[in-house]
Amino acid sequence: MGSPSTAHPQVAVVLGTRPEIIKLGNLVRLLGDSAAVVHTGQHFDTNLSRVFFEAFRLPDPVAHLGVGGDTRAAQIGRATSALGEWLRANPVAAVVVQGDTNSAAAGALAANACEVPPVHVEAGLRSFDRRMPEEHNRVVADHLAELCCAPTTVNLTNLRAEAIPEERIVLTGNTVVEAVIDLLPPAEERAALLTHHGVTASGFVLSTFHRPENVDDPEVLGTILSELAALPLPVILPLHPRTAARAGGDPRLASLLGRLVAVDPLGYREFLGLAAESALLISDSGGVQEEVSVLKRPVIVVRRSTERPEVIGTFAELVGAGPGIGEQARAWLGDLAAVHDRLAGLPSPYGDGTASEKTAAAIRERFGA
Ligand code: UDP
Repeated sequence: MGSPSTAHPQVAVVLGTRPEIIKLGNLVRLLGDSAAVVHTGQHFDTNLSRVFFEAFRLPDPVAHLGVGGDTRAAQIGRATSALGEWLRANPVAAVVVQGDTNSAAAGALAANACEVPPVHVEAGLRSFDRRMPEEHNRVVADHLAELCCAPTTVNLTNLRAEAIPEERIVLTGNTVVEAVIDLLPPAEERAALLTHHGVTASGFVLSTFHRPENVDDPEVLGTILSELAALPLPVILPLHPRTAARAGGDPRLASLLGRLVAVDPLGYREFLGLAAESALLISDSGGVQEEVSVLKRPVIVVRRSTERPEVIGTFAELVGAGPGIGEQARAWLGDLAAVHDRLAGLPSPYGDGTASEKTAAAIRERFGA
């Protein structure tokens, strides 16, 4: 493990998964020499980690905790312990965590245990669905954080309702907005992407799935894949390793996958480029629900609940893993130009692309980094 080498106070930025790299990339750049990136290793796959460091031109992590591929309890326990050790050897002014991952919960716990103030980026999201491990991770991070960076007023209200004091909250917007603005490829590059994937503008669906509720039960995964396969447009499905592992060994699921355009996980520019040119998206991702509000495309959210109510009824519709998927897709496809026109006129509820700047300013002001 390396150690930070600058004289002024440093901030540890703890991350471990694809969405955390995407949403912390600009903040790390803005913090410059003050940022010491610590990778927990929760996502260890190159396609989910290294390519995102490269896309955001981020410095290599100063430490790699290597806690991927284990149970949730083991990931949180091992990351907390390893990070605690690192923090004792490398004094920092604050520890930044993001979102709702095991890495975020572990980062906040370790910082708290080492008496270093935790900062929670993307604070105050609530699905109120206690079946989701992410809900518990984000509650832990919010309540331990000395600084909660809330993306929207909905999130602010959630934090206030849990009696988190006003002086620990700042309203920032969501850092994903500037990530999309910075990395969305220009029109010519998007046209080349369409050609490469053999699809046309607004003539395909882009889909992602990996949540346990959707992929762990072969019946549920089969239902989702059948719904996708029955759509009147080609469906590009970048396969998350978890989904690939669940579908790969089952001949019925593998044959359903064969009716879709299943590809390896895409780099961020490529994913955004395809999303911007798609007819619609179908996904169980959290971040995709936010990104579509910048890209002005509709998404069908296949989940039992969402912690992002800001986009429901405009950019997103929530449906269960069943016939609602095809019904909603066909409703939008039947009137697609009007749907796209309507969304093009709506602002994103997640901010104006300055969330990373506001977050960096709040960290500097409070912790002197
Ligand atoms: N994403 C990507 N390539 C892909 C699939 C997704 O870059 O092939 C991006 C997507 O734009 C979003 C993020 O990865 O920002 C979603 O990651 P994930 O679904 O793992 O996490 P969640 O957003 O649900 O926390």
